Amino acid sequence: MKPKVSFEFFPPKTDEGLEKLINVQQKLLKKNPEFFSVTYGAGGSTRDRTWTTVMKVREAGIDTAPHLSCVGQSREELVELIDKYKAAGISRIVALRGDLPSGMGHARSELRYADDLVRLIREVSGDHFHLEVAAYPEMHPQARSFSDDIDHFKRKIDAGANSGVTQYFYNAEAYGFFMEQLEKRGVTAPVVPGIMPITNYANLVRFSDSCGADVPRWIRKRLEELQHDEASLKDFGEEVVTRLCERLLAMGAPGLHFYTMNQAVANLKVIDNLGL
Ligand code: FAD
Repeated sequence: MKPKVSFEFFPPKTDEGLEKLINVQQKLLKKNPEFFSVTYGAGGSTRDRTWTTVMKVREAGIDTAPHLSCVGQSREELVELIDKYKAAGISRIVALRGDLPSGMGHARSELRYADDLVRLIREVSGDHFHLEVAAYPEMHPQARSFSDDIDHFKRKIDAGANSGVTQYFYNAEAYGFFMEQLEKRGVTAPVVPGIMPITNYANLVRFSDSCGADVPRWIRKRLEELQHDEASLKDFGEEVVTRLCERLLAMGAPGLHFYTMNQAVANLKVIDNLGL
């Protein structure tokens, strides 16, 4: 069976941005994605824009999953949104803890961790939603230890999540090791690697540092060297990410989830190279 692909968007700030996103989506539709997903700003900062984007993106007739994060939100606010998505016929949610801006801690959060959110969604909507949760083959930056983090992933599955989507990474072996550790704990839920195409040096390094994704030294050094030669950098990025995906699929990854950054070309090139 051919592996499935899915595409993640962030909610644009303007109507014009949303129109552009729909043009991008039209191009990605050629790859027959399993679903699209739309991110959610922690503390509900993109609440309305995520809703509007989800409603627009789903018009193409493909499953569209809102992300939902619990930090900085009251239980009541979360239940209201879960009910609203259910009533609108949404059938998949990416359930997360989220990150509040530094200094805000968890003060306003009634739910502390993503497994609390998974439990809440199951409590108020039963089996209605397919629930995706985040996984970290290179360990979440705040985790006490690697094995603790894997136990926490298991906790989310035990709470009722159906599957995982990983943070992006460029070390295929980290995914293999993560999956082995899950197997040892009896977790059989599918975990789809999150794929971040490489199109820019500075953005990738900055973002990776903040979310705990490792950009291996040889990739970092090569990107640094090519940072002022956009075409060569993109070619190199395409090759690196294509090889990574080939390796992940050979290792048995059930699909690939692309962090599109609301762009089509770099994602499509990799998927074309893979013959998907
Ligand atoms: P959790 O699973 O709750 O884990 C958070 C940390 O707490 C981990 O270190 C874990 O080991 C630890 N932990 C969990 N349970 C416990 C416990 N009981 N006791 C002690 N420690 C515990 N962010 C957004 O704001 N919006 C988005 O739309 C968004 N989409 C994402 C999509 C994907 C696929 C991924 C991988 C990440 C996404 N993020 C998003 C980022 C995410 O919100 C952050 O990584 C956040 O820091 C953790 O969220 P989580 O759901 O993984 O949290």
